[in-house]
Amino acid sequence: MWFYLRVLRLPRIVFIILFLLLAPALWLWPGSGRTDAALLDETIRIAIVKAAQEVTIAGDGLLVTSDSGLPLDLELPVTVKAAKDGLLVNGRPFQRLVFASSSAVLVNNKPYRGLAELSKNGNGILVVNQLALEDYLVGLINCEISSAWPIESVKAQAVIARTYALNRKAARSGALYHLESSVIDQVYDGSQIEDSRARRAVSETEGEVLTYDNSVIQAFYHSSCGGRTEASENVWGARLPYLKGVDCQYCLNSTAAVAWEQKLPLSVLEDRLQAAGHKISGLSDVKPGSQNSRGRLKQVVLVAAKGGLSLNGDQFRKAVGYGVIKSTRFSVQVAKGEASFSGTGNGHGVGLCQWGAKQRSLEGFDYHEILSYYYPGTKLEKYSDVS
Ligand SMILES: [Zn+2]
Repeated sequence: MWFYLRVLRLPRIVFIILFLLLAPALWLWPGSGRTDAALLDETIRIAIVKAAQEVTIAGDGLLVTSDSGLPLDLELPVTVKAAKDGLLVNGRPFQRLVFASSSAVLVNNKPYRGLAELSKNGNGILVVNQLALEDYLVGLINCEISSAWPIESVKAQAVIARTYALNRKAARSGALYHLESSVIDQVYDGSQIEDSRARRAVSETEGEVLTYDNSVIQAFYHSSCGGRTEASENVWGARLPYLKGVDCQYCLNSTAAVAWEQKLPLSVLEDRLQAAGHKISGLSDVKPGSQNSRGRLKQVVLVAAKGGLSLNGDQFRKAVGYGVIKSTRFSVQVAKGEASFSGTGNGHGVGLCQWGAKQRSLEGFDYHEILSYYYPGTKLEKYSDVS
């Protein structure tokens, strides 16, 4: 320990203070003897880097620990490389490295609150950011929406992001991490785009989650629905009573965010379908199948010389690209070897419509009303009263 202090050439008292500040974070470390969890904030573990061959860590006054859990003397910034069976730092092997800060750990130059844990996973390095749940939410707000939106819609976003995260944490309690940092779960990019309005929305809803039958719900949400939100069973097959789909004319006020056009040569479409594993060749036409009661396509029919097929709406979006075909609410026409898509809505359409929530907030609804509208039958409760 004192050797470590000498390397960094800082007064001993600075490190004593730093260690006292960071000690609670270390206690949260899995397997490190969590002695008084009830007194500590709820934490969450996010995968922020996956399958990297090297990762650079920097930051002021970081406390570094290795496999043993004891402080380690590493000169920062440091580049950690993937080795065959673990990690390598300047030729020294490690299984796991933890970098903790009372302010921010820089992972590949991006700041993150809490801890950054590095380990070998599969073919590369996995970096998990473990931090207080409420801090995670503050960082997330401006990745998902803009904190400049009316505050009640920002508060609604804070509640659903917290609800979603805690639901996933419970479902993945034995896993290396609870959430991806991409659209697969919730977009999160560290602490660099935190601001005071995001923090206000999180603190004014502190600890609040949506529940149904005394359980934290699966609070799916999406960018815009285009007129009616979708029932969960129409996307994923599972029927959830609070995700039945509701009318939402509100997002239609934001035409630029809701309407989309896309042109794709049939050859490109065919390549993407093949890359997704479909044995199709000579694609000549794309036809919309029947619509469900929410105005979304149940099927997309692909006419081809060989291997023509019919995909359900979500399968089609997945194969061609969720960012290319933004929703399953579209029409399509084929002419001169090119498919022209014209659609409304962005995302799967299940749960809260973010642009609709923004408009409802502008019209004077508070976040309780917004949430109970998009998740009918749910209750807003303190997580501490549910868990
Ligand atoms: Zn909507």
